[in-house]
Amino acid sequence: MKIGLVFGTRPEVIKMAPIYIKAKEMGIDIVSIATAQHREMMDMMLKVFKMKPDYDMNIMTENQSLNGVAAKVLVKLEEIICKENFDWIFVQGDTTTAMAGAISAFHKGVKVGHVEAGLRSGDIRDPFPEEMNRRVIDQVSDLLFAPTTNSRKNLLEEGLNKERIVVTGNTVVDALYYVQEKFDLDSIRKKYIEVENYILVTLHRRENWGEKMKKILEGIKEFSQEYNLPIVFPVHLNPKVREIVKEVLDGYEKAILLEPVDYITFLSLLKGARIVASDSGGIQEEAPSFGKFVVVCRNTTERPELIESGYGILAGTEKSSVYKALVRGIDVKVDRTKNPFGDGKAAERILKAVI
Ligand code: UDP
Repeated sequence: MKIGLVFGTRPEVIKMAPIYIKAKEMGIDIVSIATAQHREMMDMMLKVFKMKPDYDMNIMTENQSLNGVAAKVLVKLEEIICKENFDWIFVQGDTTTAMAGAISAFHKGVKVGHVEAGLRSGDIRDPFPEEMNRRVIDQVSDLLFAPTTNSRKNLLEEGLNKERIVVTGNTVVDALYYVQEKFDLDSIRKKYIEVENYILVTLHRRENWGEKMKKILEGIKEFSQEYNLPIVFPVHLNPKVREIVKEVLDGYEKAILLEPVDYITFLSLLKGARIVASDSGGIQEEAPSFGKFVVVCRNTTERPELIESGYGILAGTEKSSVYKALVRGIDVKVDRTKNPFGDGKAAERILKAVI
């Protein structure tokens, strides 16, 4: 059996790495295919998991458009598919890389496996373009690896055949366990930052660019001032994000603005945080493993499990709603032991399903 793993961004590497590592352990022929949609942040993650792409499309350009990315992935993956005799192509999540990868494989008659299938916000334009990407990928996939029973339910409600759906848990929990076993996160954090009791912030979503992100940051800043808590913020490389962060937080003495950090360092920051404010998907799935409460700075969510299990709150994107959510979240005690998104065995379930 030969599987091609397609990935192009930071979260895709984190969530595909456990499958890559497990497949090697199980003696499955696995071919890693990087699109490099986000060159630098993808490379940073490959190092953590000691992965070297077998193919590297190297597609990233300055000011790249979604259509530009999709077009390149469609064509370049076809070339690779023509050289290799894949039984399966796996794509992960909801990026343009994943959507175009799935369609390219579908066009060539290669079976598609969707890792992290069935997430839905219910609004095709939010998150943009991810919600559309997910729906398209699920339509063309032969196997749908739903991380939770809730994501399975979403797929069944759309009329997808239950034979195609396997509930696996999210591979991000596998990745987290991999790092936790190998590294002493507390000492890594202490070497990296001096502050304790901080608000960990990440923001990057396209639909938050502009005014919304500014308001979110103002809400976080106000909370930081009132509660006298520092902000630790690894700032995404996207210039549209950096511009706004600079505008609101530059010169604010309680803000520690960092470059994006590698996964190990990031998990150490997460483990040491008092509370998290983020619009990231992956961070919502990781935070429960460390018993951290997440203020989700968005208007919709495709991860209701976080909120239902008491690990987070959907804060919206207004200054006052973000501030209030932080006030509510700061003293919430969460159950440290139970992560609603997975148990660390997702990669194995996924591979067993295709076997
Ligand atoms: N992450 C990281 N370094 C950082 C910020 C985030 O390694 O400086 C990791 C984080 O642990 C999570 C993933 O990146 O697993 C989330 O990526 P991102 O927020 O870019 O994407 P999303 O999950 O929203 O698709």
